[in-house]
Amino acid sequence: MTLKEAMFYTKEGQKTNCFLCPQNCSIPPGGKGICGVRENIDGTLYTLNYARVSAFNLDPIEKKPLYHFFPGKWIVSVGSFGCNLKCSFCQNYSIAHQVPDTVLLPPEELIDKALSSRDNIGIAYTYNEPSIWYEYVLDTARIAHQKGLRNVLVTNGYISEEPLKRLLPFIDAMNIDVKAFGGDFYSRVCKGRLESVVRTVERAVRNCHVEITTLVVEGLNDDSGELEEMGRWLGGMNKNIPLHLSRYYPAYKMNRPATSVQVLMEAKGLMKKYLNHVYIGNVPGVDNSTYCPHCGQKLIERNMYRVTRLLASDECSRCGSKVDIILD
Ligand code: SF4
Repeated sequence: MTLKEAMFYTKEGQKTNCFLCPQNCSIPPGGKGICGVRENIDGTLYTLNYARVSAFNLDPIEKKPLYHFFPGKWIVSVGSFGCNLKCSFCQNYSIAHQVPDTVLLPPEELIDKALSSRDNIGIAYTYNEPSIWYEYVLDTARIAHQKGLRNVLVTNGYISEEPLKRLLPFIDAMNIDVKAFGGDFYSRVCKGRLESVVRTVERAVRNCHVEITTLVVEGLNDDSGELEEMGRWLGGMNKNIPLHLSRYYPAYKMNRPATSVQVLMEAKGLMKKYLNHVYIGNVPGVDNSTYCPHCGQKLIERNMYRVTRLLASDECSRCGSKVDIILD
């Protein structure tokens, strides 16, 4: 096991108080935090997942999902284990809430692999929650940036302000889960608080490229009033923030039926009142191409995770409007 002393905690005698994320765990000797990856050993808090990699792939950037950040490119994607939320519908529970097999991959080795992967634009910290992999992500992201790689976080946004501020200068893009726009859903289904995620999104939007994902669970977080409130909030920051409405399938502790495509399409219709780019995830065959918000010209054509046609510059070829998409 790789042990590294954790950042962002205080000591109170033998007890440790972790403030990496808003769970603010108070951890007695021999105990672990809610995330399961920070342990108090004799009065010192250690991270248990430093450099422990459970999954390594070269993925299309569209799979993160990021649709407006280097569309059509590839990104080395790594994950570890643990999570600081407890969503009963977790779609990645085998690494979020169990300890999978891992390999040791120190930052320099991961960066070497990323640099030698063809057509790769950088490193995505994904699969499980990267904010509780903090020390490794920070160490890696810092060097990766020096070497010209981009860093991407695919995150639940449940991180405290100070660690987020420290990490953001090395982060180029984030896909942040906003699991619902009701505090009750967060506390009941995810064991977290919406306000903390809202704060993360608002700070991230000021610092890097941001896309949002909401896994729509029919009957739980598809209330039209809540969705519209979320749309107004996101659109108020920037109408060009891409929103991915992803289809829920039964997983982990939740066995409600999969969300119907009709519910997803209705949610998309609502959100389009506030946002220029709303996509449907986890549904083969839907149109997820990108259109110019001014004239409707197709800018990027996608077939699932594959880009089949890409705009040539950051201007619409028909009306000449500037397009808010980061290209190579
Ligand atoms: S990172 Fe883990 S130990 Fe620290 S506050 Fe969050 S859940 Fe608790």
